[in-house]
Amino acid sequence: MAGTLLEQRMIRWLCGLAGYASETEGEDCAASASAESLAHGAAGSALSGQERASAQGRHSDRSGEGSSPSTELLPHETTPRVRQPDSLNAAKPDGVFTSGGTQSNYMGLLLARDRFCMSRWHWNVRELGLHPAASRMRVLCSEAAHFTVKQSAAQLGLGEQAVVSIPVDSQHRMRPDLLEQQLTQLRDDGLLPFALVATAGTTDFGSIDPLPELAAIARRHDLWLHTDAAYGGALLLSDKHAGLLAGLDLADSIAVDFHKMFYQPISCGAFLLRDRHDFRFMRQLADYLNPAEDEEDGVPNLVTKSVQTTRRFDALKLYISLQHIGRLAFGEMIDYTLELAGGTAALIRQEPAFELMNEPVMNAIVFRYVPASCPVGRSPEEWSDELNVRIRSTLLSEGTAVLARTKANGRLWLKFTLLNPRTELKHTKQILQKAKEIGKALEAGG
Ligand SMILES: *Cc1c(COP(=O)(O)O)cnc(C)c1O
Repeated sequence: MAGTLLEQRMIRWLCGLAGYASETEGEDCAASASAESLAHGAAGSALSGQERASAQGRHSDRSGEGSSPSTELLPHETTPRVRQPDSLNAAKPDGVFTSGGTQSNYMGLLLARDRFCMSRWHWNVRELGLHPAASRMRVLCSEAAHFTVKQSAAQLGLGEQAVVSIPVDSQHRMRPDLLEQQLTQLRDDGLLPFALVATAGTTDFGSIDPLPELAAIARRHDLWLHTDAAYGGALLLSDKHAGLLAGLDLADSIAVDFHKMFYQPISCGAFLLRDRHDFRFMRQLADYLNPAEDEEDGVPNLVTKSVQTTRRFDALKLYISLQHIGRLAFGEMIDYTLELAGGTAALIRQEPAFELMNEPVMNAIVFRYVPASCPVGRSPEEWSDELNVRIRSTLLSEGTAVLARTKANGRLWLKFTLLNPRTELKHTKQILQKAKEIGKALEAGG
């Protein structure tokens, strides 16, 4: 029970952080107050008055003295970061902890599918299975979206064929103009677009789709907007960079992972929902677990909001981390890794032996070693790919570094994902130096 209340409190805080919050929150504030007194009474009883005083919300907690990162608590935030247009304020947000982005993306598309079938055909998918016309339903996302969008479509009975990929611009963000075109085309073809998945932090490049533009298109075309912020969601903790996520609050649902840039042990993620009413599509009542009478009596139960039944108490990890580290210090760690990425990208750009693929928006940098020449009889592309594969495996076998690899524009690339705030520029510099030496040696026939 205490776990349920603490999870709900964390979810409320996350919804506020994401910009989800209604102005007419009398009921929620009351619920929040009681959950907080519970937390203070139990987990938080050792807090000093000063610590409590420093926890008066994100704006005051950073202005004053006495708000050192170590004493900053989970902010008791009820003020939304971004004020929403009036029409959206009626909805009350909610959410649930999940095993990660995979499950959160699945849940977003499940609710989207079922709401669409209900509103279009008065068809209850949970009871009846898929509607006969479901094979015409379409989900749109960028070509840089996570593979779990396709995986979810497959698991939801729509098939991978239901996923339509929209091309990206030079910075790997979905192109709204092509999205519009595609939507028109789909409608002309008699197909049924029902959901749009935006990505805030693509896995390879950390690119953030133009969220406000996509939200406007989603609203115009009556699409469920799910924003996959599994990687990028942590930017919300940073005062400097949270602006990159402007428009996040316009999504119907959001995926955010805490086992990535929130530095939590695996597994820990959340699914946030702008209108908690939409959870009705997955609500299951079991007499022995969460009987209807309990609901009427207001007994909270998270089973009705999860695709899992028994779950680990993952909210506790995040709660404890935020209490001990504080949002401020979390934000500073993230800011630091973004700076480090900028510095590392500059090193790569200055070095003729490397090609930098992206100016990092977050802390992912994609680059490759560029051979000075190509042996006779080899294609320059193949040769480049081979050298980069061998540079990577040598760095690994020598114990220097584990670089990720990816494919883009038909080429093989190396990748830094600089999440660790203890990594310094001198470290990435050493790795690059070493990578170059290995490349040169290989070219010289070594
Ligand atoms: C990591 C990631 C996922 C998958 O999340 P898991 O936590 O591994 O289930 C989905 N989308 C994006 C953008 C990711 O970075």
